[in-house]
Amino acid sequence: MKCPECGSRTSVEIDMHSEGFTADESPVKECGSCGLVWRVRVVKGKPTVDIIKAAEKKVQ
Ligand SMILES: [Zn+2]
Repeated sequence: MKCPECGSRTSVEIDMHSEGFTADESPVKECGSCGLVWRVRVVKGKPTVDIIKAAEKKVQ
């Protein structure tokens, strides 16, 4: 999926061993371009972006 911050497709799934994922929560992803860390949760049937860590780098 595309990064919600910069639109880059170079996202990487972060493996978090401590928690299982439910149907309503996608794995945490990190953008390879801007460093944003996010995950998508489904709230009342709508996908909602949860920002876990803000973007670090400016995208040129
Ligand atoms: Zn990004």
